[in-house]
Parts: sequence; structure tokens; C-alpha cells
Amino acid sequence: MIARMAAAPTSHRVLILGSGPAGLTAAIYAARANLEPTVIEGTQPGGQLTITTDVENYPGFADGILGPEMMDIFRKQAARFGTTFVFGDVTQVDLGRHPFEVHVGPELHRTETLIVATGASAKLLGLPNEHALMGYGVSACATCDGFFFKDKDVAVVGGGDTALEEAMYLTRHAAHVRVIHRRDQLRGSKILQERAARNPKIEFVWNAVVAELVGDPQQGGLKTLVLEDTKTHERRELPIDGLFVAIGHEPNTRLFTGRLDLDERGYIRTRDRGTMTNVAGVFACGDAQDPTYRQAVTAAGSGCMAAIDAERWLEARHG
Ligand code: NAP
Repeated sequence: MIARMAAAPTSHRVLILGSGPAGLTAAIYAARANLEPTVIEGTQPGGQLTITTDVENYPGFADGILGPEMMDIFRKQAARFGTTFVFGDVTQVDLGRHPFEVHVGPELHRTETLIVATGASAKLLGLPNEHALMGYGVSACATCDGFFFKDKDVAVVGGGDTALEEAMYLTRHAAHVRVIHRRDQLRGSKILQERAARNPKIEFVWNAVVAELVGDPQQGGLKTLVLEDTKTHERRELPIDGLFVAIGHEPNTRLFTGRLDLDERGYIRTRDRGTMTNVAGVFACGDAQDPTYRQAVTAAGSGCMAAIDAERWLEARHG
């Protein structure tokens, strides 16, 4: 692991919010352009990849790599070219003046360009041991982790498009996929509903919520779900190998409400197939502006775009 670097200077040409693949790739590019970027890492440095286990679909790692290890490599690469890192969450932003002002608790940062790479968070069920079992039978990403459940019994929680897509994806690997939904009607689109209903590996469990996760990360991970019927409140145990929580994602953009142009779900709107937002000098990349692909590699690609856009914007301004 790399030691934390000293506190950032207060004035920056490029300030990057977020330290997932998008933010760190933006940092690598900005640093190599001699823009001496600073990354506000958040309080979960590395972002969502730090809650997955093996990453097997990121090009360049033929044997796969652990998510946290991969983010450590990204971070080292950004540090190597002179990126400064600040641990902590942004508490306030002022985009109404230029240089923009970004507060991290009591620290004030002023910056000419701002790259927003704050990512998204999978909504979780809120059960006590859910975080501890992440990567040990509980996952929020079928494309990332489905492969590890070959011929196993898995369940997906949720009744929207994401849950249906995840369930269908999981049937490529798992022997049996239960979709656990709290009502008796799905929210997902008709076409996906029909496709899922036709799939012989998918079984629906209606009017049920997951009330408890039974298992220990040190002893084989998740073993059993305790399901509660939402009508009768009766509880029953369901032995299971894996649980995929698919109750939606939320972009981490709350700080920008009323400051940046967001879509109806809170994703930052970018312009002209680039990373520019409605505020000149503010760029957005990664999951904070991507409701569609949400992959590490696409996030990294858009981080590169944001750094190039910021560099060009500074060049145009200063010549
Ligand atoms: P969503 O449409 O908001 O659905 C979330 C589902 O999770 C709902 O069925 C909801 O139940 C359930 N849920 C929420 N909180 C829960 C909790 N605490 N416990 C148990 N169940 C809970 O989210 P999404 O499926 O991620 O989709 C988000 C958006 O992306 C949608 O607009 C969707 O159409 C779109 N999308 C599209 C595609 C596609 O077109 N291929 C793929 C993925 C996503 P209720 O139904 O009872 O509220």
C-alpha cells in the first residue's frame, strides 16, 4: 500500500473528485500532461471495485486481479506522475464562482477545472452482515461475479430491469436462479419480463423480502437466506450459494443537485459525446454520468476523456 500523501495545496489547475477507475485514469492523464492534479479520494478509496473480489474482464490482466489490488495499481500509476491525494469526502462545492471552490471538511480547495468522478453506489438491503458478506456470497454485480457461481443455486433480489437482466445473465452460469421480489408484480419492462418468464432456470419468489443473511465470511460465506412473506410475515429458510442485490444504483451526485445539470435519476448530463457539463470547466466521467454501461473499463475510458477535455479547456483559456 502507498502511504497517504501530504495535504493538497489550496489552488489547483485540475481537481478530481473520486478515486475509482474514472478518477484515477483522469489523474494519470492529467499528471502526465504536467497539470499536477489532486484527487479527493473519498472515504472508500478505490470506489466500487474495492467491494468486488476478482476482476476478470479488465483487459490487460490475463489471469484476473483482485478489485482492491487493481485500484492500488491505478493509484500507484497516478502517484508516479505526481498526483496528490487527499483522503476524505467533499462536503460542499461552489461552482458559481471561478476558480471553483471545493470543501473537504475544514479544507478549502480552489480549482480552475473540476473533474467529477464520484461514481455510483449500488443500493443495498441494509441488513447487518451485508457488507461483511460482500464478495463472500453476496454481490451487487452479476457481470462481475456471476462466473463464480457455476452450477450453483443463486438468488436475485429486486423486480426491476436490473434484477431481470442480472437473473438472465446468471442463468449462463448458475444451475438455478430465484428472483425474490417484494410484490407480485414486476416493475421491469414487459420484454424482459417475458424473456425471464420463458427461461427454465428462473423461478420467481413473490411477495418476499430477505430478512436475514446467514453465513460467515471466514466459514464459506453466505449459506442461507431467511425470507419473510410480505403478506403473512411468515419466515422460512432458503439454503443458497449466492445472493445478488439488484434493487438499483444511485449516482453519487447529491452534492451537485441544483449546481450541475442532472437527469431525472441524478446522473450528470454531459455534452456533445464528451465529458463537458453545463458548467464551463467542470467535466464528468465514470458512473456518475453513465446509467448504461457501468463497467470499470468504460469508466477508465471516460476518465481519460475528461482529463483530455480539461487539458484542452485550460489550453484554450490560457493559450
Ligand atoms: P428500479 O427500476 O428502481 O427497480 C428496483 C427494484 O428493486 C424494484 O422492483 C423495487 O421493488 C425493488 N426494491 C427497491 N428497494 C428494495 C428493497 N429495499 N428491498 C427489496 N426490493 C427493493 O431499478 P433498476 O432495476 O436498477 O432500474 C433502474 C432504471 O434503469 C430503470 O429505469 C430501468 O428501466 C433502467 N434499466 C434498463 C435496462 C434495460 O432497458 N435493459 C436495464 C437495467 C436498468 P418495487 O417494484 O416494489 O418498487
